[in-house]
Amino acid sequence: MGLTFPFNALTANTPPPNLESYSQSSQSMISILGIPYDADSSFLKGTVHGPPVIRNAFRSPSSNTSAENEVEINGHSQIQDEGDLDLGSGQNAREQIESAVRNLVMQDNKVLSLGGDHSITYPILRGYASKHGKINVLQLDAHPDLYDNLNGNRYSHACPFARAFEDGLIGNLLQVGIRTMNTHQRQQAEKFGVDIISAQDFATTVVELAGPVYVSLDLDVLDPAFAPGISHYEPGGLSVRDILSVIHELDVPVIGADIVELNPTRDIQAMTAMVAAKVMKELLAKML
Ligand code: MN
Ligand code: MN
Repeated sequence: MGLTFPFNALTANTPPPNLESYSQSSQSMISILGIPYDADSSFLKGTVHGPPVIRNAFRSPSSNTSAENEVEINGHSQIQDEGDLDLGSGQNAREQIESAVRNLVMQDNKVLSLGGDHSITYPILRGYASKHGKINVLQLDAHPDLYDNLNGNRYSHACPFARAFEDGLIGNLLQVGIRTMNTHQRQQAEKFGVDIISAQDFATTVVELAGPVYVSLDLDVLDPAFAPGISHYEPGGLSVRDILSVIHELDVPVIGADIVELNPTRDIQAMTAMVAAKVMKELLAKML
């Protein structure tokens, strides 16, 4: 089965993605932005420690810093590390994240964010909208993250894509690897017109996209056997090679990305940190 993205016709009053805003993307700088934030995690804290741990794994002498296409990532002239945001909490933190991302994209930079929990993607997408308008999003995740609220929190890491749709930030959302769908989130997915390739269907479905895309990679899309350093174990997930293949086979511009939900307090011998660094290298190579 093949799927073409975007699947849903835009309605008459929905502005199309601002294609002109991508015209210089091949020369753009890529900013790596650490977003240490876990205040809206619902089950366990710890993802606040993610960004420096991913950087350490990237620099680990146990591996090298080349992507699989042999592009050297370390010291690349188009990649700069902006360091970590110094965040408050709640609405203040969301405004800080949105503002930082907006400042970078308005300089024509692409942003690869290191989380932090998945709640950060909502303010990141708000920052992107300042320049790009509605954008298409590829979400790799065990969870749909479409709750209207979780335990009364509308900004939970279980809700970012509901908030993003309500603010008109997303053109089309394709979710890959989902394996926790429930009745409420199914209703939300139908309301927002979300396209889903479940973990069950992944092996028999080709991930095809059209148009520039933002990639939001929740590490729990992976089977916990590959990535135990996360908060929510959901067995039956994808392999590291599955995810790398999705990234490698993207034949559309990647205008931004985030890698979220690394929880170093749950990791074993930094093996999930090494996975995060690996997918960071491959995403950066794809974004160049
Ligand atoms: Mn998520
Ligand atoms: Mn998840």
